[in-house]
Amino acid sequence: MQDCIFCKIIKGEIPSVKVFETESLVAFNDINPKARVHILIAPKKHIESIKHIQETEKDLIGEIFLAAKKIAEEKNLQGYKLLFNVGREGGQIVDHLHLHLLSPDAISV
Ligand code: 5GP
Ligand code: ZN
Repeated sequence: MQDCIFCKIIKGEIPSVKVFETESLVAFNDINPKARVHILIAPKKHIESIKHIQETEKDLIGEIFLAAKKIAEEKNLQGYKLLFNVGREGGQIVDHLHLHLLSPDAISV
């Protein structure tokens, strides 16, 4: 996806603060954080949104949630919110699937 900002972040063409990475996904700090901890978890594969996921991608979706759990454990977060914005009407601005991990609480970052 040539003009996708998150594909460029994943390829390292646009700088970001990466906090977690596996073969299939990457997690990085949101550039405009809405909470003390605001991390975006995105698959390396370009998928536009939850509307576009296929049956074959269900493992990937599971991996995204497990990554959120691992990041929260690493940062000792006591509580957090996980959010997918879906479509413009759902508040999605960047058309590359990403899970928001938001927490007011960052005991050890
Ligand atoms: P959405 O509204 O699509 O669910 O969320 C997109 C998020 O991406 C927003 O919270 C926004 O601050 C973040 N964002 C947009 N552009 C960049 C960027 O270039 N780098 C990073 N790290 N985050 C970005
Ligand atoms: Zn993309």
